[in-house]
Amino acid sequence: MRRYPLFPSFFCVDHPLILHKLTQLRETKCKSFGFRTMLREISALIGYEISRDLPMTTRRIHTPIAEMDAPTLATPDPCIVPVLRAGLGMADGLLDLMPTAQVGHIGVYRDHETKKPVEYLVRLPKNNEQNFFVVDPMLATGNSLIHVCDVLIRHGIAPEKISVMALVAAPEGVRQFAAHYPTIRIYCAALDEKLNENAYIVPGLGDAGDRLYGTE
Ligand code: URA
Repeated sequence: MRRYPLFPSFFCVDHPLILHKLTQLRETKCKSFGFRTMLREISALIGYEISRDLPMTTRRIHTPIAEMDAPTLATPDPCIVPVLRAGLGMADGLLDLMPTAQVGHIGVYRDHETKKPVEYLVRLPKNNEQNFFVVDPMLATGNSLIHVCDVLIRHGIAPEKISVMALVAAPEGVRQFAAHYPTIRIYCAALDEKLNENAYIVPGLGDAGDRLYGTE
């Protein structure tokens, strides 16, 4: 995992398989089906790292040879929180790994004029003591993710229970997010160069929601 001294809470999961798939997914010629498949696969691979510190317990089992106290994930199950729309494509990959996870939904869109997040849906589980994995492929300005974490914290979730998983990040967004939430970890496949004047990530991959659902 690659670390950046400037961003201590940022973890770049730059595994060769992830980078190979990310290159395919970035290409303009990668259409919605390929994009969806690749995003799901990459999310599962990043998910392997993001889930590394999940709490464990043991339970008594019988193997054909003996009894043992075997390691198992502690309850309650973690909660995956896709940021609509594009986060849904990442949630599928995490659900492949953690099929019993809960799923909360937060709908935020970016106002094209102000570039600020506008919230239109919040559905979260009643319990709030489990780990929460917020998923959104593009960490661009950081404003949407800050807004989503504000919502979770208002819901009573402790910041130490929250991690963020993205696909591609811009340095501007990581800096902005880390200034608001220095202890919330961000896991990502690539740190790109910059944002353009429309707050799109360069080189990035375009509009993740449109590419995922073929709505360009
Ligand atoms: N959202 C996207 O879908 N793409 C970007 O580059 C930035 C924000």
